[in-house]
Amino acid sequence: MTAPTPPVTPPLVLTVAGSDSGGGAGIQADLKTMLALGTHGMSVLTAVTAQNSRGVQGAWELPVEAVRAQYRSVVDDIGVQAVKTGMLSSAELVETVAELLAGTDAPAVVDPVGVSKHGDALLASSALESVRTRLLPVATVATPNLDEVAQLTGVRVDDETDLRRAAAAVLAFGPRWALIKGGHLAGDAVDLLTDGSEEHWLRAPRLDNRHTHGTGCTLASAVACGLAKGQSVPVAVRAAKEYVTGAITAGFPLGGGIGPVDHGW
Ligand code: PLP
Repeated sequence: MTAPTPPVTPPLVLTVAGSDSGGGAGIQADLKTMLALGTHGMSVLTAVTAQNSRGVQGAWELPVEAVRAQYRSVVDDIGVQAVKTGMLSSAELVETVAELLAGTDAPAVVDPVGVSKHGDALLASSALESVRTRLLPVATVATPNLDEVAQLTGVRVDDETDLRRAAAAVLAFGPRWALIKGGHLAGDAVDLLTDGSEEHWLRAPRLDNRHTHGTGCTLASAVACGLAKGQSVPVAVRAAKEYVTGAITAGFPLGGGIGPVDHGW
């Protein structure tokens, strides 16, 4: 008789982000992605949103001490192999999280969440400078969309040829890699991943599905999962793009507004 195989600990991934009560974005999207990709997902909650398919009806930040304590609980006992950050809400929280990340060797995927698809602010405008000068410098990969690029760098992207300029402006703040998500441009969904010397262009056909809530959170989390598994940044990003393309394809109607991407495909 063969002995049973002992259980193996999966790769350990931590999300530092806000909660979406509707289950489509934020911590909920992150943990679903982490489960689907065979990792153990853990969470440091930064803010709670009252949210549904129509938008954000309210948002409350957690105290800095609560964020620090959650992080220490996870890191001091369990450990992490990759971190993803999402909604950080205030300058104080951005700076706290940046300081925590500076103290770890785990790679960090920073999604510099600014405004939701519905136009709800998830980051105070007074926190932008802290994102530029404190958070981006400790990122292994920063994953801004075009609105976030404009907010952080002033670079406006009107077509694919501007993506290089956008990436250079983001890299100037110090992340090792920039993944500029061109999904809001017309035509194919084109993203550019670069560290300033290598360039990787990721192209996917535009999908005819409006139920895309949680796309950015899902992509960044999927990248973190790949990094936790020991993949290089380009390999992790390519796999993450494939994952999110599948999740958008399977996005489903929910409530009266924009439904979420699906993780069960
Ligand atoms: N809510 C939370 C808590 C988030 O972190 C995010 C994005 O990061 C959103 C909402 C916005 O998601 P979307 O722009 O995909 O609607």
